[in-house]
Amino acid sequence: MSDCIFCKIAAGEIPAQKVFEDDSVVAFRDLSPKAPVHVLIVPKKHVASVAAFKAEDKDLAAHIFVDVVPKLADELGVSDAGFRLVINTGDDGGQTVHHLHVHLLGGRKMTWPPG
Ligand code: 5GP
Ligand code: ZN
Repeated sequence: MSDCIFCKIAAGEIPAQKVFEDDSVVAFRDLSPKAPVHVLIVPKKHVASVAAFKAEDKDLAAHIFVDVVPKLADELGVSDAGFRLVINTGDDGGQTVHHLHVHLLGGRKMTWPPG
């Protein structure tokens, strides 16, 4: 999508502190971190949100959660202490960038419930 900031980051057109990249996924540090570890895991393909997932995206979704999340959590040093995944979806969900992204947050004790 031409006007999408995460498409541009995925394409390397806008700089970001990338911590992981493969054919279908990129992960980079959040510009405004809410925890000592705060990365965004983003499909390179433009998917607006979880609500916009299609049947054809099953492999991509599985890849993110089965392959990328555990590997990144390990590499970022938060596997043992624990971490939080957040996927804000739509306006009430607090989504501000309308390209699906999984927040991986760690390095401090999280509170619950979220605001
Ligand atoms: P959302 O509120 O949509 O779940 O999260 C969007 C996240 O993207 C926010 O945490 C915000 O700090 C981050 N963000 C927005 N623009 C940029 C950017 O240009 N670069 C990076 N690295 N993060 C961004
Ligand atoms: Zn996009």
